[in-house]
Amino acid sequence: MAVLSRIPKTLTRTTTSSIKPLSSYISRSFSSTTLNSETDLKVPSFLSCNSPPLCQEPKDRNVQWVFLGCPGVGKGTYASRLSSLLGIPHIATGDLVREELNSSGTLSSQLKEIVNQGKLVSDEIIISLLSKRLEAGEAKGESGFILDGFPRTIRQAEILEGVTDIDLVVNLKLREEALLAKCLGRRICSHCGGNYNIACIDIKGENGKPGIYMAPLPAPPQCVPNLIQRADDTEEVVKERLRIYNETSRPVEEFYRIRRKLLEFDLPGGIPEAWPKLLEALNLGHKDKHIAAA
Ligand code: ADP
Repeated sequence: MAVLSRIPKTLTRTTTSSIKPLSSYISRSFSSTTLNSETDLKVPSFLSCNSPPLCQEPKDRNVQWVFLGCPGVGKGTYASRLSSLLGIPHIATGDLVREELNSSGTLSSQLKEIVNQGKLVSDEIIISLLSKRLEAGEAKGESGFILDGFPRTIRQAEILEGVTDIDLVVNLKLREEALLAKCLGRRICSHCGGNYNIACIDIKGENGKPGIYMAPLPAPPQCVPNLIQRADDTEEVVKERLRIYNETSRPVEEFYRIRRKLLEFDLPGGIPEAWPKLLEALNLGHKDKHIAAA
């Protein structure tokens, strides 16, 4: 697979304390009228990528990856597993929105209304939440990221592309019948944030499409009394989120496809089947084995 050649084989770290934070470039680019001018934005050299057609492996920083995919596909699950494996932050804009929504801040009720209808939050709000999160991470010495849920519009993708190099975009794919069932079966532990699923998905293969089996992902006994459902995981709202994904976020896949950054990954089943295959596709199988053996 051609894409393998640009997956980092070694993930190196350096200190970036002298470099202006990425968060400030994101905020600045949002208020700038032209979004694609790297000269205007004065992107620091460690963030620039000039060697087409494929982005080079990052040599002096941690990876900067994006996870795309429909609601319920498992972006959060796989991004968070990779984050632990690679020691880089997993930043989910959906989590940032929910944190803000559950706070007593002024945005809270506005966000609740938007999210509970399955609509997208404005680019202004998302950029502001993401910039704050990046700023806080940079202050703690974080570098690199796995973004989950951002970018979700072409405008967000242009802003990101204008300020930094995304090394790789993983597009997780799953049959639409499974997505609704997975969202409806999702349960979250309100104490530890653990993500579980009561759905047992067993879709037979037809017309050349392979069948798919995904076993439920039960919560451990200590989480069971604290399980909750997301308010936007109702049938009506999930269908609206899927509609909006197809209309507004699907073009983001093409945005990265033409920049040759997109790794398409068809989920072959649940975590036991998909995780090793994803690591293989990312050229990271060796890393998982080291950790398992440690
Ligand atoms: P999903 O399961 O639909 O992928 P997320 O947890 O990523 O859900 O996001 C939850 C909600 O937060 C979205 O439906 C949307 O309202 C809001 N949201 C998250 N990320 C973005 C974004 N990049 N742009 C606009 N709205 C967003």
